Amino acid sequence: MDPILIVRGLSVTFPDSNGGLEALGSADFVIYPQEFVCLLGPSGSGKSTLLRVLAGLLRPTAGEFVFAGGQPKIGMVFQQANLMPWRTVLENITLPLELENVPPDERRARALAFIELVGLTGFENSWPRDLSGGMAQRVALARALIHDPDLLLLDEPFGSLDALTRERMWSELSRIWQAHRKTVLMVTHSIGEALFLADRVLVLSQRPGRIKLDLRVDLPRPRTDDIRYTTHFGRLARRLKEAIE
Ligand code: ADP
Ligand code: MG
Repeated sequence: MDPILIVRGLSVTFPDSNGGLEALGSADFVIYPQEFVCLLGPSGSGKSTLLRVLAGLLRPTAGEFVFAGGQPKIGMVFQQANLMPWRTVLENITLPLELENVPPDERRARALAFIELVGLTGFENSWPRDLSGGMAQRVALARALIHDPDLLLLDEPFGSLDALTRERMWSELSRIWQAHRKTVLMVTHSIGEALFLADRVLVLSQRPGRIKLDLRVDLPRPRTDDIRYTTHFGRLARRLKEAIE
């Protein structure tokens, strides 16, 4: 299979008072269609910077990235849900469709389907201020999925959630990914999260980040809690840990 994304020598240097801060060293990797790839690395290693470049929000200083099939539709989710407080759950999720001028009835029908998919049925008319962190991230995920993106870019989407909620969200995201087969690139600094979700884990070195390890996660799916207590999981976790240190 041909990659859908090819990244070559991508680097980003931010201007500062002493010659520039090199956030991303020189990143090289590819992503294949329908793959779930996690990008793991210490804080400040350029993970968010890399995602922002791929989303077209930031211009790289050097290198290039090529989407094989032309510019894909991209859905993004950040650590904070960034919902519009004056819009209900339903209205937050229909927003991308309003911007695409989809007719109101169709907007509503599609939003309701995604509300069900992310497990928020019954909360269509709730306000963001009344949602828990996990529920707000479900809304953000539904909003990112609703315009049927080819590529999902997730930047520590569960980073602000408590441990139990986070683990519930892993299962949900896994289920959604298996149902819709999106290509996903997800930033995390959690080894457990990466191994639970990914087909492949890319490890970034300390700043300026370079891809230090490209590890295939050959754990069977669907993955359940039990997988974390297997020796193979332990072996993979150890390889990731050694690469990060
Ligand atoms: P990560 O997401 O891996 O924690 P980031 O990509 O956010 O790391 O940041 C990498 C480095 O680049 C950090 O040292 C950060 O302070 C710096 N940086 C990020 N964004 C900017 C910016 N807009 N201007 C200047 N420096 C930045
Ligand atoms: Mg970050």
